[in-house]
Amino acid sequence: MEITFDCTQCGRCCHDLRLTLSVDEAQVWAANGHQVDLLAEGWAWADDADETDPAIQWRKATTIPAMVGEVPFRINLRLVARHEGPCPHLLPDMRCGNYKARPRICRIYPLESRPFEAMTPEKRRCPPEAWAANLPVLERDGGAAAPEIRTILTEHRRAMIDDVNTKARLAAALDFTEAALAGEGLATCAPSPSEFLAALDLAQAGKVAAHERWRIITNRETTRAMLADLDCPVRLVATGYGFLSAFADEG
Ligand code: SF4
Ligand code: SF4
Repeated sequence: MEITFDCTQCGRCCHDLRLTLSVDEAQVWAANGHQVDLLAEGWAWADDADETDPAIQWRKATTIPAMVGEVPFRINLRLVARHEGPCPHLLPDMRCGNYKARPRICRIYPLESRPFEAMTPEKRRCPPEAWAANLPVLERDGGAAAPEIRTILTEHRRAMIDDVNTKARLAAALDFTEAALAGEGLATCAPSPSEFLAALDLAQAGKVAAHERWRIITNRETTRAMLADLDCPVRLVATGYGFLSAFADEG
């Protein structure tokens, strides 16, 4: 199975996005005065999770353990470059003004950066002509066709594992202790670039300890009631500042 592709330089993927960054990439992004957000989602973590399953191993390696009330959770923390409208590096002719130093996620696109997730051309922003059959092979049998892109993917995924503890301390330094329920949305923390860099300094120096106790925020009354029944600390919020929702507000 092959997927063919060539970038048309339409620039759509450089607008209105949240680009997943490693800690090192986020530090550079914020040092240039650009916005970096920290996002959090959590899964209740059963004692009997099958840890021989590679997908479970990946989830465990890229999340931190936490308690929500008396329920064990795993919390995934994601650093993202956020821009409404064009990326601050996008040039008027839709070329990248940061091409040599652009984050790995920009080099990977439109391939899927997460393991165990298939890349679906229909879900990408690239126009139909970018996928014409006579173009170079982008993906073969679910993997990147080009060795250099495979290397970048490996580095990106490695950073998602290696950065886990620094991101946990960063969340603590930002006093960010709320996560969305995975699949429902993402809790968001949006410090200014200078606040972000100061908190990251503390996290990298190990001057702050990761939070063990987290709360859940949700915009669905059914979820709030279900978690409250389990004595989990939970707060009903509206979609908007602090919460990106996959569902309409309820309750
Ligand atoms: S860094 Fe470059 S490639 Fe990445 S979103 Fe910005 S303009 Fe696009
Ligand atoms: S959306 Fe696709 S075709 Fe358009 S610039 Fe981005 S990668 Fe290239």
